[in-house]
Amino acid sequence: MKHLQSSTLQLRNLTKRYSSFVALRDLDLDVPSGSLLTLLGPSGCGKTTVLRMIAGFLNVTSGEILVDGKDISRVEPNFRDIGMVFQNYALFPHMTVESNVAFGLKMRGVSKQEQATRVREALEMVQLTHLADRYPSQLSGGQQQRVALARAVVIKPKLLLLDEPLGALDRHLREGLQSELRELQQKLGITSILVTHDQEEALYLSDYIAVMNQGRIEQLDSPIALYDRPKSEFVARFLGVPNIFDAKIVTSNGREATLSLGGQLIFVSDAEGQSAGADCKVSIRPSHIEVVGADDPREGISGTVKNMHELGERVVYRTEVNGLLIEANAPRNNNRDRYAVGKSVKLILDPAQTIVLRA
Ligand code: ATP
Repeated sequence: MKHLQSSTLQLRNLTKRYSSFVALRDLDLDVPSGSLLTLLGPSGCGKTTVLRMIAGFLNVTSGEILVDGKDISRVEPNFRDIGMVFQNYALFPHMTVESNVAFGLKMRGVSKQEQATRVREALEMVQLTHLADRYPSQLSGGQQQRVALARAVVIKPKLLLLDEPLGALDRHLREGLQSELRELQQKLGITSILVTHDQEEALYLSDYIAVMNQGRIEQLDSPIALYDRPKSEFVARFLGVPNIFDAKIVTSNGREATLSLGGQLIFVSDAEGQSAGADCKVSIRPSHIEVVGADDPREGISGTVKNMHELGERVVYRTEVNGLLIEANAPRNNNRDRYAVGKSVKLILDPAQTIVLRA
């Protein structure tokens, strides 16, 4: 985290109850100024609830929402100085592109002249100047979403909330708009919160990702840190790591440790806080396991190839190690027979990439 940077948005002990159901419990979150933070998590974990409370569409049960240090949790949505983009565009159908973008400025009593200048700038930013006179029904989905983005940023809000903004677009268009969105967000330096189901989108767009689980934040990290070092089994599974196993710490010197996995020894270079004899879970991505011949002299664990698939540039092996099914990726090579189904192989796990998870 960038500790020196101030935070535009701070959530303090934010709690939301829907009658007896607690959707969010004592949530704390700081969003550094100018950064884009993504709320990521399975359906029902509370992402939309957080976003709607920040926007003011939902009442806060208890806790604070601080924007630039001021609690806005009781302020009417229109006075919160927040721009919002929704999945379903939510443009006014009877207004032209230009009037849609000008709407927020008009509501704020901005002079006609300044409205015209700012609308022009906003439309230039999203490259839609040539469509200013069209109505939303005469635009493609991607174009409508660019108008929604222009409409949200034209008021120069303190915060930009993005609720699955690209969710309704097809994959190809989505990828194009992802890079436009990121560029615009960085250029404007606008503090933004994104809600998405799409992990790749989150990894690509975010400065920080908060993975949520049942109304709590499981892990808050940069995309790379989250991808490389999930801290809990929930996060590792949510990020699609197939290899998560029970293990036991055999020896530990405080940081490095030897673990027993499927009755064989593996090494871990960062097992801080774990002591010998403790049960734990480990996770390792398939790309951090090397598959070599059983006679390879290096240290590794022995297994048998259960199945293999060629996927473009790589081969995916599923190997059995004393009842555990361990997945490994290898670059495609010409020596396929060596690791055919039924063959004995050795798996070399990268100690730096073998992660001991929080229970
Ligand atoms: P999704 O990705 O499916 O949109 P989400 O992470 O955004 O899910 P929320 O919509 O924030 O989840 O919902 C969080 C929890 O609160 C869910 O269990 C949901 O069923 C519950 N919930 C949401 N709105 C209400 C409501 N009006 N009354 C009761 N429970 C609600």
